[in-house]
Amino acid sequence: MTGFNMPPGCNVSNIPGCGDEGPCAVCCQAVIACVCKECPECGAQGDPNCYRKHGMKLDKLQMIGRQKTYIHVLQEKLGDAIQHLDFLIHDTEITGWDIDYVEDLFE
Ligand SMILES: [Zn+2]
Ligand SMILES: [Zn+2]
Repeated sequence: MTGFNMPPGCNVSNIPGCGDEGPCAVCCQAVIACVCKECPECGAQGDPNCYRKHGMKLDKLQMIGRQKTYIHVLQEKLGDAIQHLDFLIHDTEITGWDIDYVEDLFE
């Protein structure tokens, strides 16, 4: 799944209710639920380039869709982070940690 120009944190694989086609690259909804209008210039729907080159503007519904998706992605990340913490605390088999990778958490 390439060619989509997703907003930060938008990931094709973790949008609920999306099949292989989705989500829309502009409103982040599943393609069947896309709330984007057709571009008066080229007739495309849900094409980010129309917003950059053809003078289209995001409306409120689109912004809500994008923000919901952004939050969904953050929630998934949070879930992963909590699971990882749980693993660090409760994994009793590994007693000696020797990790040479220091991630910048506040980037
Ligand atoms: Zn759309
Ligand atoms: Zn267009």
